[in-house]
Amino acid sequence: MSQDTALISAACEARQHAFAPYSQYRVGAAVRTSQGHIYRGCNVENKSYSLTICAERAAVFNAIQAGEQDFEAMAIATEDGAAPCGACRQVLAEFAPELSILVVTAQTPPTSTKTSLKLLFPDHF
Ligand SMILES: [Zn+2]
Repeated sequence: MSQDTALISAACEARQHAFAPYSQYRVGAAVRTSQGHIYRGCNVENKSYSLTICAERAAVFNAIQAGEQDFEAMAIATEDGAAPCGACRQVLAEFAPELSILVVTAQTPPTSTKTSLKLLFPDHF
């Protein structure tokens, strides 16, 4: 299994654990570090909507708590291949402004488009 295929699979698996009773929009993310480890995240919604966290940030925070901050690539799986929101782009830019990003449509088999944080979020803060 290629590194990208493993990352895509991890994002799709994480998506299955999304807690999205309000939007029904399930998102899974997986970030690969320079150590070759993969950390996952899913969106977790809340009745108080602003407390919701995105899958991308959940994956990054999961990696941070494990002591890793050097990110190479992230896969983001949704039903329609959505790109990360602005808040997540800002958080990703903190650690990896040139992060490789795989935008995944979670179907069987999943399809993906490769982009980068540099393209999605130029001139970051
Ligand atoms: Zn987000």
